Amino acid sequence: MTLGTMDNVELFDAGTKGRGLKATKELLAGDVVFTEPSFSAVVFDSLSTMVCHNCFRHQANLHRCAQCKFAHYCDRTCQTACWNEHKKECAAIRSYGRAPSENVRLAARMLWRIQKDTGVVSDGQLTSVDELLDHVSDLTDEDRQELQIDVHNFVDYWPKNARQQHPVEYISHIFGIINCNAFTLSDQRGLQAVGVGLFPNLCLVNHDCWPNCTVILNHGKIELRALEKITEGVELTVSYVDFLNLSTERQRMLKKQYHFNCNCQHCSQHIKDDLMMAAKDVDGSKPSAEHIKEVTASSEEYLEKVAKSRLQGDFHEVAKLCRECLSTQENVLADTHLYKLRLQSTASEVLSYLHAFSEAAQFSRKTIDGYMALYHPNNAQLGMAIMRAGVTHWHAGQIEAGHKLICKAFGILMITHGPNHPITQDLESMRTQTEMELKMFKQNEELYNTMREAALLKQPTMCMAENASPDGKIEDVSRKQ
Ligand SMILES: [Zn+2]
Ligand SMILES: [Zn+2]
Ligand SMILES: [Zn+2]
Repeated sequence: MTLGTMDNVELFDAGTKGRGLKATKELLAGDVVFTEPSFSAVVFDSLSTMVCHNCFRHQANLHRCAQCKFAHYCDRTCQTACWNEHKKECAAIRSYGRAPSENVRLAARMLWRIQKDTGVVSDGQLTSVDELLDHVSDLTDEDRQELQIDVHNFVDYWPKNARQQHPVEYISHIFGIINCNAFTLSDQRGLQAVGVGLFPNLCLVNHDCWPNCTVILNHGKIELRALEKITEGVELTVSYVDFLNLSTERQRMLKKQYHFNCNCQHCSQHIKDDLMMAAKDVDGSKPSAEHIKEVTASSEEYLEKVAKSRLQGDFHEVAKLCRECLSTQENVLADTHLYKLRLQSTASEVLSYLHAFSEAAQFSRKTIDGYMALYHPNNAQLGMAIMRAGVTHWHAGQIEAGHKLICKAFGILMITHGPNHPITQDLESMRTQTEMELKMFKQNEELYNTMREAALLKQPTMCMAENASPDGKIEDVSRKQ
């Protein structure tokens, strides 16, 4: 971290929420509040041979560490850059005979780092890692058992001849910190969760379901970015959960994972809950309570079936189930109802994958209309959904709508991701491309339609999981779920 990047914030006592960060000067939408490299980070077990252990890029033909045969890197440069962090791990993996789970690897890396740097990476770090909350005493029996297994595996893995040995309580403390503070790392385009890491300053940013900041991973570092104008002295917040859940559900998730009761304005006043569960208003009259109840219950069953078929990779079945369920909801549930939105979003994703672009475009349009009524106008998920809708319209040959959506997504991602992020750059080239095509379309519609076929074959650098199956749901950077 370069000195001075913490100029925009200061620590303060946020009352019942513990410590927090507040702005020391006025910030505008899209401003980078601070950037932070990870204190420690590891690649997920399942992707250990497919993602670089240094820069977290997902790519083919990685170079393997000749000694432990576990770590993989893009090239020598990444391997050399990572050696300081990997050296002790490399020896430990060799003597243990295999690599332990990601949690254990992360805990060990944290302890090696704490040992080396006494827990502080740079002048810009506002808290030592040891001081972060662990919530071990709040764990359920089940979670506590899992933690004990991690601790047990850690003790086996940690070198017996190491200068420093740690008491079990301290190791539990470290795993507790990981459980409620670790952040999921995504690959370079933000399409897939590939690892997990600890960012101490970020841990100081408290949660709000309607936050004024967002966090994004860019070139291996996190950026905290302002979503709106923030006045000096105002607390900085990010959301640890997706807003598109009822307030009681968000509160439940936050309690379970992060052990606090969310009393944010949106939760305490149940803001937008009504829209998320609303019934459809047809010419001033609503369906009967009985009918709503019936459709809601059947929707829940459908959602379960959809999830199951999706997991099995039966995308034709997923599309069929979504269509069926959406037709029963049509005049009963409002267009902002969560169940409707979930099915529409799945339908559009799956139909795009099946190359049924026109139908996919219709569903994506409805989805983002609902999202726009619910999400903060600069929400990153909203921006990504609009981007996907834009690409779907473009593929469906609806160039005018496609271009418009891509421009709208670009405006949001300039704030949430910034101009240097790979996704924003992809979006910018799509914007240029669709602008050109739109001109062509307006000049000569017939010529455009012939050209479009060729353009579709050309496969633009797409920042959506177009070639990947829709089971690897697009994920953004979020706290560990
Ligand atoms: Zn790399
Ligand atoms: Zn190695
Ligand atoms: Zn809340």
